[in-house]
Amino acid sequence: MDFEDQRKKMVKRLLERGYISRLEVARAMEKVPRHLFVPKDLEGSAYLDTPLYIGEGQTISAPHMVGIMVEALEIRPGMRILEVGGGSGYHAAVMGEMARPGGRVYSVERIGVLAERAKKNLKEAGYGEVVTTVVADGSRGLPEFAPFDRICVAAAAPAIPEPLKQQLTDGGKLLIPVGGRWYQDLISVDRKREGYLEANLGGCVFVPLIGEYGYKD
Ligand code: SAM
Repeated sequence: MDFEDQRKKMVKRLLERGYISRLEVARAMEKVPRHLFVPKDLEGSAYLDTPLYIGEGQTISAPHMVGIMVEALEIRPGMRILEVGGGSGYHAAVMGEMARPGGRVYSVERIGVLAERAKKNLKEAGYGEVVTTVVADGSRGLPEFAPFDRICVAAAAPAIPEPLKQQLTDGGKLLIPVGGRWYQDLISVDRKREGYLEANLGGCVFVPLIGEYGYKD
């Protein structure tokens, strides 16, 4: 299978449909091999614009959602980024690609087996150096590595977790799906000194953020 060709076509479609528009985002998504982040038997579907099952009841987000989020985050080289909900590691790899050189992504996942698999995927895809995987409840953030220029939450919360806002740098940006279990709004929060400016980027559907500042099961 010509994965590179499929990847180029996927990115072209994301550009044509207006999910992404920035060249840096297109380049990063053209570079990261999504097929290395999905189970072997789903490899052939890796470049379809759809979420895919990665085990443990979890999914790798659809490429258009990764594109929308990465574009909204305005990631630049050198940034320190926190990802909550590491899943397969794919989204972290795209952000790591954009944060190079000099940046770092801390990708937090609550399910140990998924974090282990993500670590392996990231290494195989060439992002083992730029992405650090951590097993923890990411709804609390990662205070030992804070503050972060960007925080990207890939699971849905009932409300914005206060620790995440507090772990942003001045000028930092947080992106998080907020709402009910089955449908949410993608909210961006910009920190300016002690103030926070929120914007609604539209509807989305994510699996729940389970933890102290998320859902409780
Ligand atoms: N970004 C991922 C990728 O590229 O594959 C997809 C993320 S998946 C939609 C959401 C992930 O969030 C799941 O793997 C789930 O286990 C994880 N999750 C849920 N609650 C969490 C929490 N409190 N801390 C860390 N991870 C959490």
